[in-house]
Amino acid sequence: MKVQQSAEAFSEAKQYIPGGVNSPVRSFGSVGGTPRFIERGQGCRIYDVDGNEYIDYVLSWGPMILGHAHPKVIAAIHEAVDNGTSFGAPTLVETVLAKLVNKAIPSMEMVRMVNSGTEATMSALRLARAYTKRNKIVKFAGCYHGHHDSLLVKAGSGAMTYGVPDSPGVPASIAGNTLTVAFNDKAAMEEVFAKDGGDIAAVIIEAVPGNMGLILPQEGYLQFVREITARYGALLIFDEVMTGFRVALGGCQAVFGIKPDLTCLSKIIGGGLPVGAYGGRREIMEQIAPLGAVYQAGTLSGNPLAMSAGAKTLQLLIETKGLYEKVTAMSLKLATGLQRAAQKQGVIVQAHAIGGMFGIFFNDKAVYDYETAKTSDVGAFNVYFHAMLEQGIYLSPSQFETCFMSYAHGETEIERTLQAAEVAFAKVAEYQAAKAK
Ligand SMILES: *Cc1c(COP(=O)(O)O)cnc(C)c1O
Repeated sequence: MKVQQSAEAFSEAKQYIPGGVNSPVRSFGSVGGTPRFIERGQGCRIYDVDGNEYIDYVLSWGPMILGHAHPKVIAAIHEAVDNGTSFGAPTLVETVLAKLVNKAIPSMEMVRMVNSGTEATMSALRLARAYTKRNKIVKFAGCYHGHHDSLLVKAGSGAMTYGVPDSPGVPASIAGNTLTVAFNDKAAMEEVFAKDGGDIAAVIIEAVPGNMGLILPQEGYLQFVREITARYGALLIFDEVMTGFRVALGGCQAVFGIKPDLTCLSKIIGGGLPVGAYGGRREIMEQIAPLGAVYQAGTLSGNPLAMSAGAKTLQLLIETKGLYEKVTAMSLKLATGLQRAAQKQGVIVQAHAIGGMFGIFFNDKAVYDYETAKTSDVGAFNVYFHAMLEQGIYLSPSQFETCFMSYAHGETEIERTLQAAEVAFAKVAEYQAAKAK
């Protein structure tokens, strides 16, 4: 596969942009090799500047659940842009999107739009602290909620991959208010609440963690987290930035039947444009300025282009019959197919799938938290990743990231991906045999 144009673009970018990228994981730092510079996308395919074509399972890290350049989403953006791009005054489409969010996720009685997932979780924490008049936050090892100071503690994916779970520049005084527990570990959570329960403002959780690879909650675990937060008067914040409109229209809270106090969104809600949102119970949300004293603002928040792309995307997700059934079935088929293909070559992987998310761990033991995820064979993943890429299959470039499925993928793509996987796992088997010697 020719990658000369990407290689040249990367070396030029590196002179002006730190690491040549505007978000670390794009640099292929953990897998090595040349990151592909993408020229365009259509449906489930992307095309790089060398003219290579790929079946895309990154989908901009989740947003493109309808596939790239969906004609109706593009038309909605065109229509909006012709009227001007930003006013810093209210527009009708903001309420349209807020109503669609409320319809899909009824626990979000009121919604405030921001510009990224990071901004959504940062704002939700401030609100939770103000509402409860408490300081401490509980998060889970390996969960990622954006890059602001309070939550850049054992943050998973980028941070985990790069080996800097606590970034320099985060004051210890701030990180000290963030308590970290293992996912799926009830005893650890009981312990933290027994010790600090009176000062815990909120527990923030990826109910289905997707930033240490894809991890699933054990039976009853999320119910336990809901129960213990309520018992101690702490708020439960579901970070559904990745899972919202992706594991199901109503996100994890619909799948597992849990009602969080606050929910954070981003990714799909912007339909491929930069948007974030947080929302929840009315009496909590009413504390935000200008109604209440909790300050939070944004010059471009509720931007009409982003709102239009998001609203059209949500409309299509609501309208399209069988969309989530199809996406869920394809994720499951691919994940189990990958596991079977690996087994055929004597490679053991743990395959996880839910809704439009799937992933495999190169691990012969069950993976259910950050510690178990870390025992995976990263070298084997890297061999697999490059073998797939070389065959035109674009997977997330890290063992500790999730892959995504869109409605634009079909049986043909799944079959092609599984064929490529046979070749890739044969290479992994060679790698693991050589390593064992
Ligand atoms: C991507 C992500 C974020 C951060 O969103 P940005 O828009 O990148 O700031 C936060 N939480 C979760 C669960 C995410 O997957």
